This record gives sequence, structure tokens and C-alpha cells, in this order.
Amino acid sequence: MIVYLNGDFVEKEKALISVDDRAFLFADGVYEVIRCYDGRPFRLDEHLRRLEQSVRAVRIEFSDFGTIGDVAKRLIAENRLTSGDALIYVEITRGSAPRVHTFPPRGTKPNVYVAGMEFQPKRNQLENGISVILVPDIRWSRCDIKSVGLLPNVLMAQRALDVGADDAIFIRDGVAVEGTASNFFGVFGGVVTTHPKSNYTLAGITRDVVLELCHKIGIATQEAPILESQLPDAEELFATSTTMEITPVVKVNGIVVGNGTPGPITRQIQKAFWELVRSS
Ligand code: PMP
Repeated sequence: MIVYLNGDFVEKEKALISVDDRAFLFADGVYEVIRCYDGRPFRLDEHLRRLEQSVRAVRIEFSDFGTIGDVAKRLIAENRLTSGDALIYVEITRGSAPRVHTFPPRGTKPNVYVAGMEFQPKRNQLENGISVILVPDIRWSRCDIKSVGLLPNVLMAQRALDVGADDAIFIRDGVAVEGTASNFFGVFGGVVTTHPKSNYTLAGITRDVVLELCHKIGIATQEAPILESQLPDAEELFATSTTMEITPVVKVNGIVVGNGTPGPITRQIQKAFWELVRSS
């Protein structure tokens, strides 16, 4: 597998960075995950724009976002990812420098890593849905930044697995904000509802696509908080992300949603999403 690290295309085993890397020491870095369908990166510009927003928000000195797109395309070709499902992973850190909390000296170069890899979608979950647990949102208040500081997400994803669930939904002040690596949607009175963009959620690329598709096919939407207390009344629930696409949620804390199977609106959105993927 060929990866890109700081200007070079090398075998993954040879892509090495310093133990002084700021992401290793402080989680001082940001990332992106981009889906590729038959070698075509999906919503590449949107992912690069979000990467730029993350980089700016944490004041990493990097601006060459055009290169990332070109690197991604070259990695798809070099790693023969031109058919089937693949992911591009991008990480940009504040570079390597002796461990001091404040920014490293001016001119310290960021570390830039890009990899392309095969991906196996969880077809069973897409078809039959997942079960989730509700967990306290112990994250910071800049969840809009796609930071590599993912320890709360890691701990809560594992807690879900430990109790036999598939994922966890973060609850902050009585509101179901998002999943450990996904945005969260509910259908209430036929209206597709998701948390407004805010500093407490990541502005998901798939989330935007879902809202766009709903408008196109005439499904009502609203961007409003989903209260934990409303969850028992949800007609349907689903989670969205680059890797999960539109994954139905059929159980919350062991209690079935609706009749326990993926709902018709979720199915309609899934279908529209896959049609869009095929045509783009
Ligand atoms: N929220 C969080 C916390 C995430 O990690 C992700 C996955 N990147 C998402 C939402 C969904 O974002 P996207 O649709 O852009 O993958």
C-alpha cells in the first residue's frame, strides 16, 4: 500500500514520523475521511472545504488544499482502488517539535499524511439497522472541528460494543446531538429532523446530502434539537456518515423504534442516496 507523507509517496511501512509529532503528544491535528465509489471521491470539494475550516480553526499553518485532492486521486490509482468501495484518510498535524504546549517555532512544517484503503460497507447494518445506547456527551465544546482528539468517541463506541449495542448517541443537556462518528436523525410526524449545525456537532457532509435529497424528493425537514424525551415518539431514527451512509437505527437502549425495522422514509432516503452516488 502506497501512502503520502510530507511530499513523498512511499510504502506504508516506510511512512514514519517523529515521536515529537504534535498529534502524538497533544492530539494537535485534524483529519478527514472521504468515501470513494469505483474510484470516484464523493463530495471531495466539500470534504476539502471542511478540512480547511478545521485547519483554520486550530490555526495550523497549511493552505495547500488543492494538493490533497490531487494526492487522493493519485493514491486511488496507485493502490488500484478504481473499483468498489474505498476510503481516503487525510491527517494534518501541527508538525514535530519538542514538547511545549504553545505553538512550535514559526516555520515548523505541518505533518501531512494521506492514505487510500479498501473499505467494506456494513451491508447488514444498512439493511437491518443498528442498535444504539445513549451516553453522556463528555466531549469538548468545539465538536465542529474535526480534531483527531477522539478519546471520548473511542470510549463511548467501546462502551456500546461492551453492552452488545452497535453505537452510542451523545446526550448533551437532554438533547441527542450526534453519534460517536455520525450525525443523528429522527422522523417525527413525517418530518425528518436533525440537530442544527453548531459547535456541539460536526457538520457532516452526508447530513447535508440527506437534507438536499429530502428537499428534492419532497420530504419535510427541520434542523432542530431532538430531545432525549422525544425518542420514544420517533417514527424512525437513522444515523449518517461517510462510512455508514444512511444507517437505520432500530433500537435505543434496548427499546425498539417503531416496529423495530427500518422505516419507509429512511428507505426512501437510502434509495435516493445510492441513486445520487451512482450518477455522480
Ligand atoms: N459526527 C461525527 C462526530 C463524526 O465523526 C462524523 C464522521 N466524520 C460525522 C458526524 C459524519 O460526518 P460525515 O457525514 O462528513 O462523514
